[in-house]
Amino acid sequence: MSVQLGVQKIENSYSLPYKNLSLLNQKQPTFAKQTMNCPLCGYARTRKHGKTSKGSQRFFCPSCRQTFSETLNTLYYRRQVNKEDIQIVLQSYAEGMSFRGISRISGLAYNTVVRIIQAANQKANSANTED
Ligand SMILES: [Zn+2]
Repeated sequence: MSVQLGVQKIENSYSLPYKNLSLLNQKQPTFAKQTMNCPLCGYARTRKHGKTSKGSQRFFCPSCRQTFSETLNTLYYRRQVNKEDIQIVLQSYAEGMSFRGISRISGLAYNTVVRIIQAANQKANSANTED
């Protein structure tokens, strides 16, 4: 009889729900150390794009066509916004729309809009002053 009890126990353990399965899909694939995911759109295959005067690596994202440096990544790590949203944000900003207005039309959080624009500004400034 004790054998039968053991079998019962194993069957129960098999029926456990796979609660954590969805976690597997949330991880971005990480490639070589030299590259990093785009802080704006999350694109994984960014390319090296020279260095800043401080010597930090600069990258170029072929997906959303932004450049950014390693230092940006610490601020925007794991941020994932699709490139259409980024284009909407930057274009609206160039047209003089307020952050609130951009947030409304893009559907992105206000803070996300601010950060995308800050990142783009940093990119623009780094052409002259380097960060
Ligand atoms: Zn990108």
